[in-house]
Amino acid sequence: MRCILKKKILVANRGEIALRVIRAVQELGYTAVAVYETPDNDALHIRAADEAVWLGDGPRTDYLNIDKIIRAAKRLEVDAIHPGYGFLAENPDFSKACEDNGLVFIGPSFEVIRNLGDKVIARQIMNEAGISMVPGTSNLSHGEAGVAEAKAFAATYGYPVMLKATAGGGGRGIRRIDNESQLLQDIPSARAEAKAAFNNDSVYLEKLVLNPKHVEVQIIADQFGNTVHLGTRDCSIQRRNQKLVEIAPSLIKDQDLIERICQTAVKAAKAASYTNAGTVEFLVDKDMNYYFMEINTRIQVEHTVSEMITGIDIVRTQIKIAFGKQLSFCQEDIKLRGYAIEMRINAEDPRNNFMPEAGKTVTVYRSPGGYGVRLDGFVYQGYTIPESYDSLLVKLTVFGFSWNETVDRLRRCLRNFVIHGPKTTIPFYLNIVNDPDFQNGDFNTSYLDTHQYLIDYEEQCTEGNKLARLIAEIQYRKENPYAI
Ligand code: ADP
Ligand code: ADP
Ligand code: MG
Repeated sequence: MRCILKKKILVANRGEIALRVIRAVQELGYTAVAVYETPDNDALHIRAADEAVWLGDGPRTDYLNIDKIIRAAKRLEVDAIHPGYGFLAENPDFSKACEDNGLVFIGPSFEVIRNLGDKVIARQIMNEAGISMVPGTSNLSHGEAGVAEAKAFAATYGYPVMLKATAGGGGRGIRRIDNESQLLQDIPSARAEAKAAFNNDSVYLEKLVLNPKHVEVQIIADQFGNTVHLGTRDCSIQRRNQKLVEIAPSLIKDQDLIERICQTAVKAAKAASYTNAGTVEFLVDKDMNYYFMEINTRIQVEHTVSEMITGIDIVRTQIKIAFGKQLSFCQEDIKLRGYAIEMRINAEDPRNNFMPEAGKTVTVYRSPGGYGVRLDGFVYQGYTIPESYDSLLVKLTVFGFSWNETVDRLRRCLRNFVIHGPKTTIPFYLNIVNDPDFQNGDFNTSYLDTHQYLIDYEEQCTEGNKLARLIAEIQYRKENPYAI
């Protein structure tokens, strides 16, 4: 029987993830409320939602304004808020404000977000639960004492080490330190940067794992103590510690190891009293030792690849769990099938140090289609990319029965994809797909450093480009029927 009580859900986000959540809300038969700032006046999430609330001129400040969003939610008699990723998603005060105002927060409790949002506290919780992690310090004290702590740690474990912001996220606030003079120099500047970016100047050290694979596990937990995992994802292909390409499942062949990583993720989630969807991140070294890194307390950008190989709609499940429904499937019901790869197509110029292409208008947009292809985007022909937000335009996720089939399909889709106006990461991704190391699954987090030549491409004559010319030609013929 369908639940006849119609719920209203406010989506406190923008871009592709706002659309992703709105789709799930509407599929459940619920009402979706969008919020937006002035630079997003032309954004699709406003059109897709059933209702929309203008928050202010922003930019960014209004999407981050807890009071305004809560007030809008109460005025529109909203039942629940989905935070998406980024913005307020991992701000414990937001989850708390929802709770205090009788709104369901679609995510974990504020205590869980607060604890896991601090990498040092998260490490303490995992340490107590007996979960293996790279050696690390606690929060470094201020001044000379902190420097002494850091030096002592490096003396014990040796360089290189990682200097990390305890409140860090999105690959920011992480620095590799190779020697003592760099350590002395970087601690104060890292603190200042962390303060500016995360409003928290705490930093700590971790031993650096040399050329690891980034392997993470999608977990889902309901409010009745049922916690399941949806298998692994490999997110090793990164730039400046931020993911570009994500694969499910990990290509590590040792299935016993994969099973242990997944079990550890479930144990970690339970140790943190985790509810709703989350991601437990690990580093795997060349000897196949794995180490806990952090838990992200929200939907991830790359959740699509796990959906493709399990068939589970993670956002739909998030909403149901938040309203107090028990998980309707158990671990044995979850069967992994095939492979999925996601590429984050960004409006950036790879050949110009991945400079954002904001401010440009999309003049031609033609996306690939067909079997095994999924697109999560929000741009359209005529859309001008606002200056104030991140450069993600569309996530291309492909699914295939075998790894080779998936890579072949991805290549075909990248060739078919036409985005004119802003430069995008598509030509660079085509080079990745054609790279034998990628094809052989031979990559770790140093992939971009060791494959710099993939960025040095000539603007390629892809089928997509040919198609774009064809479309332009047809358009011209329509508009100028008598031209010769
Ligand atoms: P964020 O919160 O920004 O996602 P993480 O702690 O998850 O930060 O680290 C992001 C990336 O930085 C990892 O995927 C990995 O590439 C690199 N990294 C982080 N810690 C280490 C470490 N101790 N050794 C080697 N690489 C690391
Ligand atoms: P519904 O919302 O259709 O009642 P559930 O609440 O049972 O679905 O589950 C949430 C999500 O998990 C949906 O995307 C559903 O299709 C998926 N799902 C449920 N059971 C299984 C299963 N055994 N294997 C794969 N996916 C499942
Ligand atoms: Mg991380």
